[in-house]
Amino acid sequence: MTKTDRTPKNIAVIGATGSIGTQTLDIAARHPDLYRPLVLTAGSRVNELVELCRKHRPRLAVIADDRHYRELCSELQPLGIECAAGADAIAEAAALPEVDMTVTATVGYSGLLPTVKAITAGKDIALANKETLVVAGALIERLLNDSSSKIYPVDSEHSAIYQCLQGEDPAQVSRLIITASGGPFRTWERDRIAVARACDALRHPNWSMGAKITIDSATMMNKAFELIEARWLFGVGADRLSAVVHPQSIIHSMVEFADGGIKAQMGVPDMHLPIAYALGCAQRLPGAERSLGLADMASLTFEEPDTDRFPCLTLADMALRRSGNTACVINAANEVAVQAYLQNRIGFYDIYRIICETLDRCEYIAEPTLSDYVQTNQIARDIAGTMF
Ligand code: NAD
Ligand code: MG
Repeated sequence: MTKTDRTPKNIAVIGATGSIGTQTLDIAARHPDLYRPLVLTAGSRVNELVELCRKHRPRLAVIADDRHYRELCSELQPLGIECAAGADAIAEAAALPEVDMTVTATVGYSGLLPTVKAITAGKDIALANKETLVVAGALIERLLNDSSSKIYPVDSEHSAIYQCLQGEDPAQVSRLIITASGGPFRTWERDRIAVARACDALRHPNWSMGAKITIDSATMMNKAFELIEARWLFGVGADRLSAVVHPQSIIHSMVEFADGGIKAQMGVPDMHLPIAYALGCAQRLPGAERSLGLADMASLTFEEPDTDRFPCLTLADMALRRSGNTACVINAANEVAVQAYLQNRIGFYDIYRIICETLDRCEYIAEPTLSDYVQTNQIARDIAGTMF
């Protein structure tokens, strides 16, 4: 769906109170001629949602946790802002007729249904919620084939690859190389990592992000998810996907071509660029706050990832080889385990153990439907929840 140059694009920000959501709204506020936030949604942080609605004046505000519905109404209805509550209302809001682009900035499995609805309604998607493609990549691929909707990646690595692929023949791509910072435990011994607490894992060296993705970065589950995400975004199989540790987070990812040439996209570690690039459907917005200096690039280093200390990384290859509902199980077990780790109820390597044991105990479904994914997610969460 396109608009004339003069009409702002109506955006639905699903997960508006989070790290990506608030940065998206910053960009929209700086370019009111280009973007109009029409819908803002949140999980349970009602005060933050109200605050954002006062500032950005959307037409509709939706809170997932319906215990906050009355409070939302009493704060926002006097301002003429419609209110709704519940997961179904969020999915409906992502696909409202007036919405031009849906920004999926919610965390975890909760991104799946709004994204499915938005694609079915032909909306363009700025996709931050990588878990949607992890959980149900094959289904999303099928839905996109029958829809006018397009996905623009927000994840910095996938935005980098998207940028590197511009003007290139996809048949000439030999490998996608996804960079990883290595997270806060990159230089730690295994024994020390084993007893690391959530507060240690939450100290990411290069990026400030929501808690769940920060823990996923510490375990490198985030990189496994990004390999799976790349599989579905770019149609490249596991044999042509690799991850390399690049602690400076200056090169955001690379593409290698059949002639041996490698293109890299570089920049300061700041999500504003990939968010703006996705909002603009791959058009660049001027106004970078910081530019990369040569001194920042004086030492760009690369290391092989260590799967002994970070075993979650191996789950990408396994998920892509087994396919079916495997990655859906991995994602569900990971969400439960990460939550338990954040509450200091389990140790660091219990996250990997819980995922593997949940995989052993879940039924494999080769070609899942949407309702199979919904059920698999619930069953896997229930099983994982019994393990601590
Ligand atoms: P966050 O935790 O900061 O924000 C999550 C948002 O989702 C909040 O608005 C929250 O209210 C909402 N939410 C949470 N649970 C919900 C539920 N059950 N139903 C409805 N809404 C719910 O997360 P984030 O760091 O902004 O990450 C969002 C997504 O973007 C994740 O999938 C993450 O992997 C991806 N991502 C984030 C970054 C980053 O820099 N933060 C970078 C790349 C990709
Ligand atoms: Mg990323």
